[in-house]
Amino acid sequence: MKVIKIDKKEWTSGIEQVKNAYRVFGPIKEENKEFSAFKELGKGVTPDLSATDTRLSPKGIIFPQSEAMFEFTTDSTSDDCNLMNVPEKDYSPRAIVGIRPYDAAAFTLVKKNFDTPEYRDNYWVDAYDACTFIGLAVSSPSILDFSTSTKSGPFDETGLDVLLCDLDDHFLAKVISEKGETFLKAAGFTNIADEKDVQKIDILKKEAEDKIQSRVFFDKIQSYSILDIYEANFWEDISFACINCGTCTYVCPTCWCFDIQDEMQGKTGQRFKNWDSCMFPLFTLHTTGHNPRGTKLQRVRQRFMHKLKYFLDKYNDGIMCVGCGRCIRFCPVNIDIRRVCDTMNSFEPAK
Ligand code: SF4
Ligand code: SF4
Repeated sequence: MKVIKIDKKEWTSGIEQVKNAYRVFGPIKEENKEFSAFKELGKGVTPDLSATDTRLSPKGIIFPQSEAMFEFTTDSTSDDCNLMNVPEKDYSPRAIVGIRPYDAAAFTLVKKNFDTPEYRDNYWVDAYDACTFIGLAVSSPSILDFSTSTKSGPFDETGLDVLLCDLDDHFLAKVISEKGETFLKAAGFTNIADEKDVQKIDILKKEAEDKIQSRVFFDKIQSYSILDIYEANFWEDISFACINCGTCTYVCPTCWCFDIQDEMQGKTGQRFKNWDSCMFPLFTLHTTGHNPRGTKLQRVRQRFMHKLKYFLDKYNDGIMCVGCGRCIRFCPVNIDIRRVCDTMNSFEPAK
């Protein structure tokens, strides 16, 4: 394991230097805004590593909220009439600096869906492959963080290329992949940390993990039949207060639903892929007028069944949630996925 020591006095110049080789994204504190937001860092801007959680995860850097997939013309005089052409894309190296470990782990869950032997979403995968993930270990987890229950955690290395640990006047950068090593070299960060310093990482990791009190259990959910849990009475109670605003899905780093829409201007148009939400009635509305998830109960049940049952059954590798706590923090009616998970896990099927 290689660990690089980065003096904080060298941090700003290193980040400036690395922008010659990468598009660099990171959390930025914005005036009059409670939460920092992930943005591309312009000249002279460094990531705000003192930022606590961001409202939106950085998923939009790989999966933009609205992305042109194709452009086309219906002009019969054009050789390209009615042909779909992929617009020029920028898949040059990019890096997200200061991503939280659970957000990096979330990308690996989404990858299970967008990069399979049968199906490859080129837009998502090419952007993901172009990206280097420079994580910042979380030393003070929020009260809503339950990442240690979801196979992630404040020092989780899943999906990261480098893990930065903040030691007041310097960072320790744990090199996890070749991509990470290349990034650090491009930034001019090459000082190998001494063994005494490196040992501090495990101590800090244990301290941070111990601070997380919030837990979920899903050990029994797989043992229930889909139909039994689908038809359980508790969905009425769980969905009662929901206003189907979709906030929980937009802030979630593991939610990937999208819709495809054509926008025309005269005879030219673009086909867009837009974030969508299983919480919206329009998402599943058929052109016939039939809606298989026409009620609130059906939509709320879908969100939790997908994350906590279907995904678990399909991949047998944990739930589709990294425990960031965003959906709990931002739900206007306090629907709490931890309580839903407990309810599902302690379900008693009718005999
Ligand atoms: S944020 Fe809350 S109210 Fe809004 S859709 Fe999600 S569960 Fe429903
Ligand atoms: S806690 Fe909520 S927002 Fe965070 S990963 Fe889990 S479901 Fe998504």
